[in-house]
Amino acid sequence: MIQEVSRKHKQHTALDGLFRYAEFLNFGQIHIKFDPVTHLKAIIAVHNLKRGPAIGGCRMVHYGSADAAIEDAMRLAYGMSFKAAMSNLPHGGAKAVLIAPKIIKDRKAYLYSFADFVDSLGGSYVTAVDSGTSMQDMDIIAERTSFVTTTTKFGDLGNPSLHTATGVRRSIEAAVKFKLGRDSLEGIHVAIQGAGHVGFSLANELHARGAKLTMTDVNTMALQRCVEEFNAIACEPEMIYSTNADVFSPCALGATLNTKTIHQLKASMVVGSANNQLAHRHHADLMQERGILYAPDFVANAGGLIYAAAMYDHNDFDKAQQQVFNIYDTIMDVFSRSIKENRSTLDVAENIAMTRLR
Ligand code: NAD
Repeated sequence: MIQEVSRKHKQHTALDGLFRYAEFLNFGQIHIKFDPVTHLKAIIAVHNLKRGPAIGGCRMVHYGSADAAIEDAMRLAYGMSFKAAMSNLPHGGAKAVLIAPKIIKDRKAYLYSFADFVDSLGGSYVTAVDSGTSMQDMDIIAERTSFVTTTTKFGDLGNPSLHTATGVRRSIEAAVKFKLGRDSLEGIHVAIQGAGHVGFSLANELHARGAKLTMTDVNTMALQRCVEEFNAIACEPEMIYSTNADVFSPCALGATLNTKTIHQLKASMVVGSANNQLAHRHHADLMQERGILYAPDFVANAGGLIYAAAMYDHNDFDKAQQQVFNIYDTIMDVFSRSIKENRSTLDVAENIAMTRLR
């Protein structure tokens, strides 16, 4: 009997698990390429094409297993669909994951191989810069396929982090208006977790508007730069949650908001750039119970995607800038409906996005 059960159990492979996950996320397509010459191991997860070609960054990071990489690509592609829908972009969500090898002997050949993979999908997937890849990498990819954005063609405009930071700053302004009734960030204390690309640019925008900053990063050099340039107070990574701030801004990793860290929070607003900030969706309810106003990440951090799409679709950057500014109104609408409907802000935002995806 026990053997019978374990034999049945063994029949469930990792692929079965991934199919179950795909069903749960309402996928979609998952494409895989292995190139024995360049050692490219690439996954492209295309979540949804109903609103248009799926757009999403190409990240190159180390993974413990191929399963973990596929799962990450799926989870991130799902988030991109929501992000694009919330910003009313004519795009579906996708993500490419390159399982980083120990060394890449010939980066150009490696990226060409990935570009050919993207090209083979005929435009259903448009690639862009993400963790572990650069705008210069996108230039190389553009030599082989036109289904790419965020190249250096438009200079700094192609750098998504700057626009993501602006969208997060607009979301902080909306939260401050909603929670405190204030139109200005002067004297507002923001605790920023992460002084990387977005964290640095966000600090720059907030400092210019008179906000007070406390920041942390495991990279002491990145942190020191913010101390010197923006008068930020540096703190240890684990102390950032209990900082006596108005706003907590997660701009480093995903899943940093869990039961323990939410109980440590002194801030009454949470607005940041990190993808998938909540360890579990019920943490949105926990924040609501504790009177903490949470700006859903896929609404607040859409600025980079808006510009990436603009560079691919129309090159109208005034329109893109306006769309990033409008994140303020979208977030305000989510906050108001959350109160009116007595639901978490996450519930409200997901509901709006799902309606648009159907
Ligand atoms: P980044 O890698 O440039 O910066 C992340 C920073 O977080 C790094 O400086 C890193 O040292 C720091 N960090 C890592 N672990 C930490 C910890 N435990 N405590 C404190 N700091 C820690 O990344 P980024 O481009 O600035 O993006 C930040 C977050 O926003 C990521 O989650 C990313 O997925 C998300 N995001 C970025 C963009 C964009 O346009 N760059 C768009 C949407 C979402």
